[in-house]
Amino acid sequence: MTDATKSPSAADSRDMADLLARAADGERITPEEALLLYTDAPFHALGEAADAHRRRRYPDNIVTYLIDRNINYTNVCVTACKFCAFYRAPKHAEGWSHDLDEVLRRCSEAVDLGATQVMLQGGHHPEYGVEYYEELFSAVKKAYPELVIHSIGPSEIDHMARVSNVDIDEAIRRIKVAGLDSIAGAGAEMLPERPRKALAPLKESGERWLEIMEQAHNQGLRSTATMMMGTGETAAERIEHLRMIRDVHDKTGGFRSFIPWTYQPENNKLKGRTQATVIEYLRLIAVARVFFNDIAHLQSSWLTTGKAAGQLSMHMGVDDLGSIMLEENVISSAGAKHRSRLSELIDLIRSADRIPAQRNTTYERLAVHWTPEDDPQDDRVRSHVSSIVDLPIVEKQAAQAEKKPVEK
Ligand code: SF4
Repeated sequence: MTDATKSPSAADSRDMADLLARAADGERITPEEALLLYTDAPFHALGEAADAHRRRRYPDNIVTYLIDRNINYTNVCVTACKFCAFYRAPKHAEGWSHDLDEVLRRCSEAVDLGATQVMLQGGHHPEYGVEYYEELFSAVKKAYPELVIHSIGPSEIDHMARVSNVDIDEAIRRIKVAGLDSIAGAGAEMLPERPRKALAPLKESGERWLEIMEQAHNQGLRSTATMMMGTGETAAERIEHLRMIRDVHDKTGGFRSFIPWTYQPENNKLKGRTQATVIEYLRLIAVARVFFNDIAHLQSSWLTTGKAAGQLSMHMGVDDLGSIMLEENVISSAGAKHRSRLSELIDLIRSADRIPAQRNTTYERLAVHWTPEDDPQDDRVRSHVSSIVDLPIVEKQAAQAEKKPVEK
């Protein structure tokens, strides 16, 4: 990203070394400094600074993972984001909604496979107000009190409040009482105004997304924060996204982790015109680690960037590989093809010279796999156990198997 025609002066190099040292020491850096690191820092030095930051925070060298299932209750949505391949407009022939029994059946399978969390996510259905979410969360909580409901995001809260004609505070209070434990950082995409309008013109503004998150934090709900990069935003807009999140965290302390992922280009209206490279992604990961010196955790996305990039990210400041995702349909609909068995995820962590551990939503470590003998043995635990985006492939394989002559 540096201008290769311009060699840095000795003074520039000294300034960069000083900035990297301050970042590695956990000193608070400014957005301008973060941008300079993002665009100009030598790749390995940037990774080393971020990793030094991680080592100081997690000297035991543990990298965590989670077992959860993303359960989609509907794909019907009125917001029509241009990057989204999952939604269908109301009355579209391919629109669907799952009833409560189906959601509970999926929760039951998740519990059976050792999940500790469900992420209930869906479109902005024109009829789903606060009452719908109260019923959904309370039914899941009643049937599976052991499952943490880490679900929806500010966009869904904004939508349900409008449908039910109540204010945001009331919507948050009611869904919290119904059983919502934690808010997912979904719907952040890009928070600065220009890229957000280009991607999702009907969605609430980035400021509004953060305002709702702040209200949720003030009511005692904690959350994650996300970013979708690679849709044509500038380097400065990426760093501005980080600044906007950090400003809210400074006030509330409510973000548990930051999770950037890359835009997937299939089956949506952006038609894959732009994408982030793996190097851009890893640089952003490293800058996020040193910029968010008060946000405890940094998660990388093996689902969108692949397992190799996921493994490299552990040398760029990442302390968490996120979920195995027993089910995922939203990002997968747009082309995310990476899949993993739990044993592979654990191997990735171990071969990056880190110690794998299963965590829960609040990053409490449930099981540390100090040696390979401690690894879980249930081979059923793998990503996309029953994701609908995989169904056509599964059905094709079944049809081929049927045609194949039976071996005697
Ligand atoms: S990203 Fe969410 S809000 Fe946007 S169209 Fe897709 S389902 Fe709807």
